[in-house]
Amino acid sequence: MSPGWIQTVSGAVAVEALGLMLPHEHLFTDLRGPLAPDYARADPEAVARVMQPYLAAAHAVGVTALVECSTVGVGRNLAVLRHLAEVTPVHLVAPTGVYREAFTPLSLREMSAQELAEEWIRDLTGGIEGTEVRAGFIKIAMSDEGPTALEVRNLKAAALASRQTGAAVASHTVGGAVARCEMGILESEGLDLGRFIWAHANLEPDPAVHLETAQRGAYVAFDAVGAAWQSQSTLVDYTLVLIEAGYAEKILLSHDAGWYDPSRPDGRPEGGILGYTALVEEFIPALRARGVTDDLVRLITVTNPARAFAFADDH
Ligand SMILES: [Zn+2]
Repeated sequence: MSPGWIQTVSGAVAVEALGLMLPHEHLFTDLRGPLAPDYARADPEAVARVMQPYLAAAHAVGVTALVECSTVGVGRNLAVLRHLAEVTPVHLVAPTGVYREAFTPLSLREMSAQELAEEWIRDLTGGIEGTEVRAGFIKIAMSDEGPTALEVRNLKAAALASRQTGAAVASHTVGGAVARCEMGILESEGLDLGRFIWAHANLEPDPAVHLETAQRGAYVAFDAVGAAWQSQSTLVDYTLVLIEAGYAEKILLSHDAGWYDPSRPDGRPEGGILGYTALVEEFIPALRARGVTDDLVRLITVTNPARAFAFADDH
């Protein structure tokens, strides 16, 4: 069976054509939320001037694809993503979905799960905002003490849209208790957890919960590679626990880095932009130093993200 294809901003790309892929990054993010007056507004050229060098640096170390996780509610801007896709050889993947309750636009609050799923299916199979650019996956987010009732609705919509399209569902989820709860909801809505990605699993300190999640079939994303606030040796330890238990195929690694911030005059967020190269330049060497083979590195950084985001040929 063919390994399928991923949906990028510029069209479908065969999984066989992909090398290293970053499954959780940010190119353009507006954390002021959808009620801010200039929410998500920016000149695509200005964004490209700031972000293109970071994409070029990623490409230079072997990155072939990057998943943009800034969804509706935190600044998804299709014109920006289309322009960035034109100025970089890195394949870019855009999300459908919505961020957590506090960032949910008013227009999406009253919809039923079914109505929301229909909107997301349109993004995934037709195009986003009347364009021909299709979303490549569904990104949602849980409140820290969630899921709230609105987020339960989002989970149901995500399960419906994923079951119909085959799209992956990635969810910003802080801590194992919330992750367990949402996986239970997704399963009861008929979603195979093999299509689910627990984003920010590294914020749960107990590796037994990572392992339990992998055993249930979900992807466990350690997406704080290179982050100053995250102990990188702890992240290596988390990765090794899953490898040694036989669940290397469920590990995803990324930086959760970026991004152009339209609320700032120069587009650079406070603390600056963390690029997309620490995985290759620092983290993979740290894994190798702990005995992780080249084959495993390839599985985790090339095969896993492609499989996680792939659509089957019959979809
Ligand atoms: Zn993120």
